[in-house]
Amino acid sequence: MSDRKPNVLVLSGLDPSGGAGIQADIQAITAMGAHPLPVLTCLTVQDTHNVYGAEAVDSELIRRQLDCLALDTPIDAIKTGALGNAAIVEVLLDFISRHKGSVPLVVDPVIKAAGGGDLADAELVRSMRDRLFARATVITPNGIELAALGESSEPAQAARHLTGRGCPAVFATGGHGEGDTITNQLYWQDESLQEWTLERIGGEYHGSGCTLAAAFSAALAFGKSLPEAIEAAQDYVAGAVRNHLRVGEGQPIPNRAWRWEEA
Ligand code: PLP
Repeated sequence: MSDRKPNVLVLSGLDPSGGAGIQADIQAITAMGAHPLPVLTCLTVQDTHNVYGAEAVDSELIRRQLDCLALDTPIDAIKTGALGNAAIVEVLLDFISRHKGSVPLVVDPVIKAAGGGDLADAELVRSMRDRLFARATVITPNGIELAALGESSEPAQAARHLTGRGCPAVFATGGHGEGDTITNQLYWQDESLQEWTLERIGGEYHGSGCTLAAAFSAALAFGKSLPEAIEAAQDYVAGAVRNHLRVGEGQPIPNRAWRWEEA
């Protein structure tokens, strides 16, 4: 077996319930066979019900962490979740333009926790939408994030709004809807569309968005195309949700170790 794995740089927040954020990223990327390089953007006060507060990490510390890593470590993909504040977006953009222009970048545009608690202020939302999305390979909004960012409750129109403003591809996840199936849609900038219809397992799972985006970034780090990486990530997340864990009294969380337990 090789002693090297693809490295995935992840910038996201700490959720002490272990359901979402950097723990979800580390576990999902590891389970997909890649190695996570975790950079923490914010510390949250949170349980499995909601987020009650968040404090960003100093953006200059993040700049030093990124520069230090880049001198030593190949980076095969980058994934972002909760980003803390707009200054951290600027540090990331500067890092990408100096070191990592061609590396796949998956942006999970985290705005709010499922319970409604805020994970991004208006300035951070603006800087993601106006500056970061154009540098992403793909963004992975859920239905609520897509409507807010794309300024329309009609998904195709909202996605077109974002691709029209420079975002190369929008992978819109349908897990927050209703019905027996989930439809996930990949909107490209040329207005073509690919769709995946999956069985709905039922319920809401804290950290499922983070888990999907992290698995997606790991599959891209292996050199898969966007549609191939989506399929690999969807399969992995379906297993994690089917084998979910009850950690607290709020939403269950995906069991990201399910493949080892089934092996
Ligand atoms: N990142 C952090 C640090 C969070 O606390 C949360 C949700 O609470 C999220 C991301 C988004 O979680 P989900 O995957 O449920 O959308």
